Amino acid sequence: MDRKEFLNKISQVGRMVFVALLMLSLAFGCVIRLLQIQIADTYGFSVEPPNPTRTVTQSIQAVRGQIADSQGRLLNTNETVHKVILQRAFLPFQGEGEIGENEVIAGVLDVLIRHEEEWIDNIPVSPTPKFRFINVPQDDMDDFKNKIGVNYDATVKNCINALAKNYKIDSDKYDEQMIRYIGGIRYEMETMDFSFQNRYVLAEDVSMDVIIELMEMTLLLPGVDVVQEPIRVYNDGTALAHIRGRMTSISAEQYELLRDSGYSRNDTIGLYGIEESMESTLRGKNGILEITRDSLWEIISAETTREAQAGNSVKLTIDTEFQRMAEGIIQNHVDHINRHTGPGRPNSEINRYPTPEGATSGALVVMDVHTGAILAMANYPTYDVNDYIDLLLMENSGEPLPNAPLRDRCGEWGFRPGSTFKIITSVVGLMQGAITKDSRISCGGRYHLYNKPQCWGGSACGSNSISDALCVSCNVFYYETGRRIGDETLAEEATRLFGIGTDLNIDIRSGTGRMTSPELYYNLIGQPMGGADLIQAAIGQSETLLTPIQMATAAATVANGGVRLRPYLVDSVWNYDYTELIDEIKPQIVVDFREGNEETFALTQLGMKKRAAMDSKYFAELPIKPAYKTGTPELYGNYNNSAVVGFYPADNPQIAFSVVIEGGDKAFKAIPNIIHAYHYGEFEPVGEELSIYFHKPLSEGAKQIKGRVADVNPWVKQPETVE
Ligand SMILES: [Zn+2]
Repeated sequence: MDRKEFLNKISQVGRMVFVALLMLSLAFGCVIRLLQIQIADTYGFSVEPPNPTRTVTQSIQAVRGQIADSQGRLLNTNETVHKVILQRAFLPFQGEGEIGENEVIAGVLDVLIRHEEEWIDNIPVSPTPKFRFINVPQDDMDDFKNKIGVNYDATVKNCINALAKNYKIDSDKYDEQMIRYIGGIRYEMETMDFSFQNRYVLAEDVSMDVIIELMEMTLLLPGVDVVQEPIRVYNDGTALAHIRGRMTSISAEQYELLRDSGYSRNDTIGLYGIEESMESTLRGKNGILEITRDSLWEIISAETTREAQAGNSVKLTIDTEFQRMAEGIIQNHVDHINRHTGPGRPNSEINRYPTPEGATSGALVVMDVHTGAILAMANYPTYDVNDYIDLLLMENSGEPLPNAPLRDRCGEWGFRPGSTFKIITSVVGLMQGAITKDSRISCGGRYHLYNKPQCWGGSACGSNSISDALCVSCNVFYYETGRRIGDETLAEEATRLFGIGTDLNIDIRSGTGRMTSPELYYNLIGQPMGGADLIQAAIGQSETLLTPIQMATAAATVANGGVRLRPYLVDSVWNYDYTELIDEIKPQIVVDFREGNEETFALTQLGMKKRAAMDSKYFAELPIKPAYKTGTPELYGNYNNSAVVGFYPADNPQIAFSVVIEGGDKAFKAIPNIIHAYHYGEFEPVGEELSIYFHKPLSEGAKQIKGRVADVNPWVKQPETVE
């Protein structure tokens, strides 16, 4: 009887018995000794006890805490799967007996291949002939070749030969394909520090058929176990992709740093987003299992010496449905521009200066002005979290993805704010006494100092007060205001009051942006900052960059009259299954400069309200109006980005927002869509039609209802000052 026939036979007679046994013994891979002997006898070779009686400690993997949106929809959660693992204590060494690591691995692979299962294999060589190198970053390729002991210019054949030699894979016994497979696993085992302390996970999420077959072959495959453990799953992968984050295998460098904190070489760790920033909350604590086996590899005892402790779960401030609408709004904007304009095909109502690339991408942030809670943080383009690792590999292999979908434009990426920065210059100018409510600055189309820069298109704005200058975005007014404030003071106050150039600590990795100051200017440009640079900084040009989160935070600070709150994404921490609240995150006031500045904020808000009133045709159907400030930051050549910051409602604001459209125009036309989504729970892309409004009229039903999102994000949290 050949091996296959034997396996078929044993499968038929034994399957029912095994299914029952499995329920009792799956986790530890224990089997009935009698059957082991039968198998050994039938199989025809004497089974040498692989090892004497031995006790090993095995880590019991803690269940990682979950990540849910503000409505309790589970985004990142867990699924229990069966993993095939190898254990050093019971796995025979190559060359020390009739069977060694290679024979055991070949035996497991035989089962996996027949059941069309996948296993973990990360070497940069294609898995099947004709073998070729896989496209990976050069450093990884060099590292691989270095580790297997071949030259950097070695061919793929050299590499496979080196694997065969290093791991004593017998070419009389195994064909080229099997040598590649075994070599890949042996290499990975070595990389993963397979040892008495570190088991090796060969395959995850294998089927019941595979488990049954492996259990039947236990004695033939010493050192192989099947365990039941959780793996991370990402529900609804395109939702909140940049925020929720995902897991990755721990790297050798991380392992060195974290091994004393209880991490093993097989562990996973948060790679970015909430998974990364809340690692210690989510992780939980692994347990310890002591297993003792006798010389026939039968378990004598299995004792849990420490129970595993599940990690805590996290609830976010964002409602997935609202976030999806926010993502749709940016996509709608970009698509609408590209559908109806193009290079040499401008449209004054859609896009005045179309770039050769068209509008490429964008960001939209919505915040609660009373708490700082981030309600939406939408990037376009975006991606599916389940594809992240593949996309990252592509990005790093020298083939950048079009329009950088992995980039978190909202939180990490800095944009020139352009004229949206004038809200900051207004506040600083009024607080410093550089201008007052009675100041009027005359604009004849050009500033009279430095290199005499133009106002908007060179046209004269006339003599304006602060609120009118903000409404019409008069550059000359702000050049002069900036000159009066001074370079050091403008930079210091923008940083102190609005956090420009600092990390706002939003609960995931975020960028600092940068504020043009004499020091920063000198460091970047190598020349002292002059008056011409100061006045450009005052209108949001020069070297200043803000993240859309910083822009929205500035708008919220203006909206609530001078309280800068920490923008945050984590609403609360719970026990694993969300039955017990552990920590509710309190809103944090970072700076409170309301006192004595009532007029400053009233005037700045007034300028933003006047701007909205000037564009009133776009908000005609809305019973409650927004307030905002637009910007057209210079990109390159004659091309621009388009930005807007603002709040809604104009009186008694609830939300602040910022929008950036890269290579686009008319960002402010996203505002009716934001209000529809926020207040009425309604958003529909404008579609093919050429609409200068960028939005569809509110439905009759929507006009009757109260805002859905407003209902589920009640403004109840009381701010606390940060010590
Ligand atoms: Zn002007």
